[in-house]
Amino acid sequence: MSKVIVIGGGSAGISAAIGARKAGADQVILLERQDQLLGIGRIAGSMDVGGRYPLHLEIVEMGAGEVNEMFDEVSLDNMDNYRASHYPWHSLPGSEEMTKHSWVYNVMTAEPASRRLLEKFGVDIRWRTRVIDVEMEGNHVTKVKTADCDWLEADAFIDCTGSAGGMKDCRKNVGGCVMCPWMQCPTFGDRVNLTEKIGAKTWSMRQKDGTPGVKYNGIYFYKESLSQEWKDALAFSHQVFLPYRGLTDWDSDPEWSWATRGQDGNDGEGHPADAETSWRVTPNTGRFRLLDRGIFAGGAGPSPIKLEQLRKIPGLENVVVAGPVGGKNLWSLGHDLVFTDNTLLVPPTDNYFAAGSKANMVDVQPCINSGILAGFNAVRSAVGKELVEFPMSTASGDILDFSQKFLQNSEGGPTTFVSAHAGHYLKRLKDIGVFPDNEEKAKKRIADAGFADYFKQKVI
Ligand SMILES: Cc1cc2nc3c(=O)[nH]c(=O)nc-3n(C[C@H](O)[C@H](O)[C@H](O)COP(=O)(O)OP(=O)(O)OC[C@H]3O[C@@H](n4cnc5c(N)ncnc54)[C@H](O)[C@@H]3O)c2cc1C
Repeated sequence: MSKVIVIGGGSAGISAAIGARKAGADQVILLERQDQLLGIGRIAGSMDVGGRYPLHLEIVEMGAGEVNEMFDEVSLDNMDNYRASHYPWHSLPGSEEMTKHSWVYNVMTAEPASRRLLEKFGVDIRWRTRVIDVEMEGNHVTKVKTADCDWLEADAFIDCTGSAGGMKDCRKNVGGCVMCPWMQCPTFGDRVNLTEKIGAKTWSMRQKDGTPGVKYNGIYFYKESLSQEWKDALAFSHQVFLPYRGLTDWDSDPEWSWATRGQDGNDGEGHPADAETSWRVTPNTGRFRLLDRGIFAGGAGPSPIKLEQLRKIPGLENVVVAGPVGGKNLWSLGHDLVFTDNTLLVPPTDNYFAAGSKANMVDVQPCINSGILAGFNAVRSAVGKELVEFPMSTASGDILDFSQKFLQNSEGGPTTFVSAHAGHYLKRLKDIGVFPDNEEKAKKRIADAGFADYFKQKVI
């Protein structure tokens, strides 16, 4: 009887649970502190941009396309209009590949769809179950303790608790808590650094002054509070660009691009570092991007920008901000990242794994790929089999190795994200010849690496 416990039901946890069941675990229990799945994925939605696409193709070729299929099924409509609405420089010769495959899932219907998927795989979901402690015998984790004081035993554990700030981090390090609909800490409890409790090496990303956890700029409006014109534009293409030039003084917030500059390829002053791989809105363009996110519309936005400034933008006269941090438009991310090896095992343990943003694998697709691998390896460890890595010739192997080295070699924690969709890591995928990608190329890459349909074979 093999039993795996997954802690956290974001996109990484969902994938880890499915990975463990596909590998043949008899019992997979997913412990989620909220009463919904998907975590930050309930505000994400943008798929297959830039280097996310090769990762998607690879996991399908490796025989674990189920989570992607679930997202595909809840794609928004009018995706041709969406693709045509991207930043103009993404249509320039040489840059079309950035957005050519991009699409958006419906963040509202993805949550129930992911529940159905887990039910289909026979995963036992325990809602409102927050893990607060672990017990070990030597280097072996034996059980975890929930906030209700239940101790749950398993053969292997997968930590998918993400890196988003808990209330105490948001209040202390970013600027406040507005009880965001995504983390819901006041009701379901604050974040806990479980990997610290097992003696693992844990680092937070850091702000310019060394404060732990990064301020990640993003602004989310209630879609209904936009003008009819913007609402119609969003319904047509699911993406609009709002003018804001002159409304905010970029120099007044030296943090605005700190965490996102590596991810998005700008140089910290808002100028694209690499015209082909930069993504983020910049002061030069004088606009910011609003992506359709269910009842919200938003994305990376200038920060700080106050409500009274926003309401001067035509079409935003009545705008209501949903979050995340009132008036400051910041997320608190990059907390308690853990060092893993390339199998996603967390040293010094022999049976505790991590996946997704907790393991510095940021964005939905890297969460999926790392979750599947962690699920398989959890089962392998449960039955005493050697752990496996993604082949290094694949984007999946490369990004895992790169992200961990980036974390482990950055003294005191990194100050910027590794993200496949744009910026420095996408540049790397170009340099190593993986990007641009296509189905045939990915198929050959995975077959040459001996990993075709790997995740279709049960471990037990
Ligand atoms: C504003 C914003 C927009 C984004 N947009 C995109 C996008 O468009 N496309 C994209 O690909 N990526 C996007 N990303 C990144 C992507 O959403 C995240 O990297 C990804 O969703 C993280 O998933 P995760 O499973 O690692 O963590 P999370 O989504 O944070 O999930 C962690 C889960 O664990 C639970 N949990 C935490 N602690 C415990 C505990 N102690 N016990 C039990 N449960 C616990 C939480 O409740 C949560 O459900 C965005 C991120 C942000 C912040």
